[in-house]
Amino acid sequence: MNDLKDSIDIIKTKIRDASIRSGRTEDDVLLIGVTKNVDLERIRQAYNYGIRDFGENYVQEARKKIEAFTEGATWHMIGHIQTNKIKYISRLFQWVHSVDRLEVLEILNRYGREMKVLFELNISGEQSKHGASQDDVKRILEKVRTFEFIEPLGLMTMAPYVENPEDVRWIFRRMREMLTELNKEFGLNMKELSMGMSSDFEVAIEEGSTMVRIGTAIFGERH
Ligand SMILES: *Cc1c(COP(=O)(O)O)cnc(C)c1O
Repeated sequence: MNDLKDSIDIIKTKIRDASIRSGRTEDDVLLIGVTKNVDLERIRQAYNYGIRDFGENYVQEARKKIEAFTEGATWHMIGHIQTNKIKYISRLFQWVHSVDRLEVLEILNRYGREMKVLFELNISGEQSKHGASQDDVKRILEKVRTFEFIEPLGLMTMAPYVENPEDVRWIFRRMREMLTELNKEFGLNMKELSMGMSSDFEVAIEEGSTMVRIGTAIFGERH
């Protein structure tokens, strides 16, 4: 009996089934284990059970883990970005999902390390959530080619928590439409949609998610 391995197996099965329902395979959807409040030992165990991608929200907390973690993992910054932390983000992470303003790209680019970025959209317009409006993202994309170290790869969103994930299906669908619209308008070929968390990842995959960010359903409730 092993809780962590069981949880990962269950999630992988659900990802596979939802991928098939959207006419894809499980290889089309990347599972990112969200490790805020999860200690290094548990992260290592998850790695041993096959997780290779990890998401962190807070630079300070992530830094200790990433520097101590020697195996070949990929780290994704998914939390709100504070301007004074961008230097560390550029050094520690390979992906940043939460770009919500031009300033972040300007500063990231200065450090001269290639960075894969996603733009965080706030579709529901919820006050409490971070993320840019569609117009904000357009203003960023107009300039994105001027940053030689920035690779724009897609969009990210965090849907509000709801009892029934069907209630946020429209958000995921709108994200996919927006990706198509933005690619067309700016002559880009972005392919990634980072959407879906423990409570709604199956619906997100059905609507085209390519990256799911899952914490609680793998590691248990955060304290
Ligand atoms: C915490 C967090 C997650 C994971 O949420 P769970 O509900 O625990 O799966 C995903 N994305 C972001 C941006 C988060 O902050």
